[in-house]
Amino acid sequence: MTARVLVVDDLEPNVKLLEAKLRAEYFEVVTALSGQEAIELAEAQQPDIILLDVMMPVMDGFETCERLKANDKTWHIPVVMVTALDQQADRVAGLNAGADDFITKPVQDMALFSRVRSLTRFKQMTDELRHRHQAGERMGVISQADLSKFDERPSTVLAVTDSASIEELDQGSEHLPKNMNLVYENDARMALDSIRRGEPDLVLIDLGLKSYDPLRFCSAVRAFDMSRLAPILAMASADETRHVLRALDLGVSDYILSPLDTEELAARVRTQLRRMRYIEHLRESFDQTFEMAILDQLTGLYNRRFLSSQGVRLVDEAQTKQTPMACLMVDIDHFKNVNDTYGHDVGDEVLKEIAGRLTTSVRGSDLACRTGGEEFAVLMPKTPRSSAHDIADRVLRSVSDEPVVTSDGRSLDITVSIGCSVLTEADNLAMLMKRADQALYRSKQNGRNQVTDEAA
Ligand code: GH3
Ligand code: MG
Ligand code: MG
Repeated sequence: MTARVLVVDDLEPNVKLLEAKLRAEYFEVVTALSGQEAIELAEAQQPDIILLDVMMPVMDGFETCERLKANDKTWHIPVVMVTALDQQADRVAGLNAGADDFITKPVQDMALFSRVRSLTRFKQMTDELRHRHQAGERMGVISQADLSKFDERPSTVLAVTDSASIEELDQGSEHLPKNMNLVYENDARMALDSIRRGEPDLVLIDLGLKSYDPLRFCSAVRAFDMSRLAPILAMASADETRHVLRALDLGVSDYILSPLDTEELAARVRTQLRRMRYIEHLRESFDQTFEMAILDQLTGLYNRRFLSSQGVRLVDEAQTKQTPMACLMVDIDHFKNVNDTYGHDVGDEVLKEIAGRLTTSVRGSDLACRTGGEEFAVLMPKTPRSSAHDIADRVLRSVSDEPVVTSDGRSLDITVSIGCSVLTEADNLAMLMKRADQALYRSKQNGRNQVTDEAA
């Protein structure tokens, strides 16, 4: 996986060193010697990831990071802070400034490549979702993400270990946020069961695990649907770096070397959880935007656009497989009177209620849509004429048998008129719907509150 990396450091030798390492691994590299230059380059070149030195004159790494994260054009680009080994406080400060990760100087290859790769993967995964999300924001259908809220959700961290690292972990857990619940499991099979049930939000796996092959464990976690994207943090001793590399290959999200630096542990857990929450958030809002695009907002039925696209597919399938298919057009009788007499809001309530009765009168495989103001269409795959007529009768009665009771306590007698048509070999969707519409027109002419079949 290749990516464009922006390397920022005020000292040219540092820049050159990182540049050489990254180029050797086929990353594309852009460089900047100051915070200001970094911001300009990030805006203009949209790198996939930014490696940002903390100690720089004029504008230090923290301020640069804050500005990048506050900027519409750059906030989504992952930032890795490059901190001095002995400045632990810098890591926490970096994360508070909005950084996505940190590595320490002198930069180790494994630390550098694993974090660059994992963040690049993360960015690629979120780019597409983010574009859709932004489109949703522009249309005003979804709200802007409040990223700080992600840290407030309670979460469970499952630590899988059968060694002495438990003690270290316990000390580390003091640095974890209060809403984070750390649970231990020394039986890898039990741990996998729990993961399979989707219980933990993050998995900490001890690569020194003795009772089970820890790498097999990692690949098993990745193999479940439930946990394909769950963050896995590997713990290893400094002499197990080969294991770490294998684990990273298998899709482990990040690692931490023992003796555990408890603040680092807490920070890595937090950043991984934040990333997972962010993806979840984008997914959810994507589902939301998607629904908005195909559903009618008032009634929750499918909208006209969805009917057109999906209907063409259903017609095509029915004709190919030579299965019957029927169409109903439903129109509320004298609906204008409802609006004129009781107001538009009551009219809306009636529409919702009728849509609900329509939905419960047809099958789940039928496609019920609101095609216009007080008009609905139902496409019914695998339905011959006689059943179509029965279903239409059922819809008719579901409306006329019970008055609609409005929220202000009124009881309104509502009826609908229905037209019914059946697909022929020479049909297309428009023709099928047109014949149902003509039949509906005759229902209206003949006195409303009735079902009419298309002319033979
Ligand atoms: P007919 O029996 O011939 O169908 O008479 P009708 O009054 O139902 O038909 P008409 O087409 O004359 O009027 C439909 C009315 O539906 C007019 C319009 O104000 C109302 N309408 C359309 N969309 C909405 C809506 O979203 N909410 C409300 N409350 N009314 C709507
Ligand atoms: Mg009407
Ligand atoms: Mg009408």
